[in-house]
Amino acid sequence: MAMMTDNLFLKIINKQIPAKIVYEDDLCLAFHDIGPKAPVHVLIIPKKEIPTHADIAEDDKLLLGHLHVVAAKLATQLGLSDGYRLVINCNERAGQTVPHLHMHLLGGRDMTWPPG
Ligand code: C5P
Repeated sequence: MAMMTDNLFLKIINKQIPAKIVYEDDLCLAFHDIGPKAPVHVLIIPKKEIPTHADIAEDDKLLLGHLHVVAAKLATQLGLSDGYRLVINCNERAGQTVPHLHMHLLGGRDMTWPPG
């Protein structure tokens, strides 16, 4: 699917469109994916506008670390201690459809490797 031109996730951050939010702080937001690819599928996004993983800058180091700490805590809270997968799709060729950096937290089923 082609990358959307509209930044839907900015609208979710600004509460202009609804989402099932599971965590929020000053730096990030986490919500259940609208089209889950696993029994648990949560997206963790920075509030800062970063279009893709390739746009991460030196100044974003703490923010990116924070997203991982939040992901680990959510995985425990959501019962994924036996295993989970974190995915960041970067650009259209890798399957990114929303132009706002997001980390997928997937779990609740067996997974295969390599991904498609
Ligand atoms: O990595 P990718 O850009 O493909 O992931 C975007 C994700 O955002 C998809 O899994 C899609 O289901 C999800 N999404 C959502 N809520 C929306 C629009 C898209 O959870 N309103």
